[in-house]
Amino acid sequence: MNLTDEEQKIIQKAIKTWGNQAQLLMVLEEMSELQKEILKNINRHQQNMEAIVDETADVLIMIEQLQHIYQIKDAVRARIPQKLKKIQNRLGE
Ligand SMILES: [Mg+2]
Repeated sequence: MNLTDEEQKIIQKAIKTWGNQAQLLMVLEEMSELQKEILKNINRHQQNMEAIVDETADVLIMIEQLQHIYQIKDAVRARIPQKLKKIQNRLGE
């Protein structure tokens, strides 16, 4: 995700203020909230696109923090082409 410098500062301040462990647990909490909204959408046919947008944004913000905490942003970015290549292969392309 491309964040502005100001947005990056907020990410860093959140980690500094609340600590690595709390923020890593928040990654799990936000992922679980998104899972719940996806399940509501599919299983219960709920019209919850607003909640899905909301929870997706939360997850992306927490993934940013995860990458910052573990200092893996460049490594993750570098892994993506390989992962996409695998998918492309499975698609028979
Ligand atoms: Mg949330």
